[in-house]
Amino acid sequence: MMSMEEALTRAAVRLREAKHVVALTGAGISRESGLPTFREAQSGLWAQYRPEDLATPEAFARDPGLVWRWYAWRRSLVNAAVPNAAHRALVDLEAAVPRFSMVTQNVDGLHQRAGSPEVIELHGNITRVRCARCGRYVTAEGLPDEGPAECEDCGGLLRPDVIWFGEVLPREALEKASEAAGDCDAFLVIGTSGVVYPAAGLTDIALRTGAAVISINPDASSAPPGAMQLTGSAAEILPRLVEAARGKPSPPSS
Ligand code: NAD
Ligand code: ZN
Repeated sequence: MMSMEEALTRAAVRLREAKHVVALTGAGISRESGLPTFREAQSGLWAQYRPEDLATPEAFARDPGLVWRWYAWRRSLVNAAVPNAAHRALVDLEAAVPRFSMVTQNVDGLHQRAGSPEVIELHGNITRVRCARCGRYVTAEGLPDEGPAECEDCGGLLRPDVIWFGEVLPREALEKASEAAGDCDAFLVIGTSGVVYPAAGLTDIALRTGAAVISINPDASSAPPGAMQLTGSAAEILPRLVEAARGKPSPPSS
């Protein structure tokens, strides 16, 4: 088996040679900012629910108060969290390569807060709320924990501006992401279990394009087949990978 050092060097070479790098992130990149992944969100307070049962239009129709409370809880975690070394490393990488596309399944806004200039959000953003009836947007600041609040314009129920299971992804975001995946030389897939489509399909596009697909995940079984695997946490591995790609020596491993 290849050593971590060797795998890192090989991946760094592919990044350095790339004209267009795409990064696709999932919940795992924000793990070290203290945000639970979806699997982990099943523990504790919400142990009796599966995220799939809270993140659907049907759940909202059935019990909007429950869904509202779940998102209010997640929003409070997001507001208290700060970007970590992995988010920052992607900002550095973007500055170092000719072209870069930042694509995320996350709704936490941490890439933007880390300084990523343009983020393609496939699943919306939890810090925004919109009217389920007329579509009016509201920033989620100062919203009550109990809800849903009502739209000032039409009296409809306010809902988080995220994409629920069974809903269609924003067309423009998905188009941009697909184009980028079909045009890149290196594709980083970071902290995602890769089971939720159509986002997971972007990795397939990149593989078909012949891009080097580089997976960063502590769980080796989450890596898509055909990917170069860097097994470990994003906050630990990404800064080393980006340093190596930029040609700086990585600190000796102890
Ligand atoms: P996930 O929870 O399915 O997977 C998280 C991944 O991160 C796992 O592969 C895990 O091994 C990895 N990971 C854990 N710690 C890590 C670390 N320190 N560094 C790197 N990786 C780490 O999350 P996902 O793949 O983002 O889920 C896909 C999509 O499913 C989500 O973006 C979300 O939109 C959707 N989903 C939404 C809801 C909702 O409430 N709207 C609920 C469930 C799933
Ligand atoms: Zn309205």
